[in-house]
Amino acid sequence: MAHELGHAVLHDGEASDAQEREADDFAAEFLFPAKQVVKEWVANPSLEDLYPIKRKWGISLAALIRRGYDCNLLDDREYRGWNVKLSSTGMHRREPAPLPPENPKALRMAIAHAQATGITIELLAERAHMYPTEFAATFMEEIA
Ligand SMILES: [Zn+2]
Repeated sequence: MAHELGHAVLHDGEASDAQEREADDFAAEFLFPAKQVVKEWVANPSLEDLYPIKRKWGISLAALIRRGYDCNLLDDREYRGWNVKLSSTGMHRREPAPLPPENPKALRMAIAHAQATGITIELLAERAHMYPTEFAATFMEEIA
């Protein structure tokens, strides 16, 4: 969603490859600003060192490691080592210290407001390029 937000604020129409990278950069900075990455990173981190950072910023371990690499806190060898560790242990598919599911309220409130002004779920779903049932299940149901 942060990537799509990047497109919404930066671009118009069909995105080029450069714009896709720009949206990725926007999302990375939006979710975990480089200034904070540098401030909170632990030198030669263990897996256990990374869990609290992962939890605080609500990003995956893989994204956190990528962020460390992009902020020059991990060199090529260390970055490759972390990726081998994540894939060889199956952690890239099933991460330890999973994040609790998010339960965004602002989006549900915005949808309810739109409905109150006469906008239908069918129209909202069409704008999101989704089927109405899919839209409702994705954005309107509270996560238990
Ligand atoms: Zn994109």
